[in-house]
Amino acid sequence: MTLTLPTYADVCAAAERLEGHAHRTPVLSSRTADRELGAQLFFKCENLQRVGAFKFRGAFNALARFDARQRAAGVVAYSSGNHAQAVALSASLLGIPATIVMPQDAPASKVAATRGYGATVVLYDRYTEDREQIGRELAQRHGLTLIPPYDHPDVIAGQGTAVKELLEDTGPLDALFVCLGGGGLLSGSALAARALAPGCKVYGVEPEAGNDGQQSFRSGAIVHIDTPQTIADGAQTQHLGQYTFGIIRRDVDDVLTVSDAALVEEMRFFAARMKLVVEPTGCLGLAAARAMKDQLQGKRVGVLISGGNVDMARYAALLAKGA
Ligand SMILES: *Cc1c(COP(=O)(O)O)cnc(C)c1O
Repeated sequence: MTLTLPTYADVCAAAERLEGHAHRTPVLSSRTADRELGAQLFFKCENLQRVGAFKFRGAFNALARFDARQRAAGVVAYSSGNHAQAVALSASLLGIPATIVMPQDAPASKVAATRGYGATVVLYDRYTEDREQIGRELAQRHGLTLIPPYDHPDVIAGQGTAVKELLEDTGPLDALFVCLGGGGLLSGSALAARALAPGCKVYGVEPEAGNDGQQSFRSGAIVHIDTPQTIADGAQTQHLGQYTFGIIRRDVDDVLTVSDAALVEEMRFFAARMKLVVEPTGCLGLAAARAMKDQLQGKRVGVLISGGNVDMARYAALLAKGA
């Protein structure tokens, strides 16, 4: 099977569709971070994106491409996290009915937020039922279009717009650190980086417990793992996708891992020094850059902060634990 992988031209087309809908998020710097790492750091703040994560970009881009029949019938997505909110909000902005398949034990606040965007929520039991199958059945029965969280060309192209903006704002960088779950963000980022900053090293960063992406990158074939135990809930994916792996193996320089303890350290750093609320998954990039600082001396380094959605009680508990 040969897949047609999305290209940088698709990222540019996505950027046009997102204009006026997604925020052009700020690129922040921190003297403290620069001093501690001996490098010049540029933080792309997707924790300040609509719905609190970059996922709005990919979801909106995918839904904006629906034809009249798809728009009328609606979209279905399965997710307990940021993709659910991103599809729900995008659908409501575009006047498309949305059905979101969420686990029964998802936080009530997330279910309420998804319903608040006007989506129909279908709950399932994550121990006995298969959400992908439920999604597929809903799609077939009602003619809905399924939008997966990462392995879709339009989702990848949309996610790539964040690094396109970053590089437009900063000019060429020497290295770029991007969080890695299923690889939508990393593959889109790599498309943008290869086009706008060909010399830039692009690194994907995973939680230590869930290093399927690293294993896949190094072995040359997609490796499946059990759902990893990590505080980085946005990166608890079990495997990369066909599209995302195709781009990652071609355009990414390496995949790195960091510990949960290092993520907590960076949550503290972002809160204390930059006054930013960053969810654990959003801390992967900075944690990896810090671990590699000997190789980054004097370099210009981009760090993608992917999201800021974390339950406040959990956030407080994690910060207190790292104190
Ligand atoms: C989804 C998500 C990720 C991982 O993105 P992929 O495209 O699945 O690799 C990272 N951080 C946050 C905050 C997310 O919501």
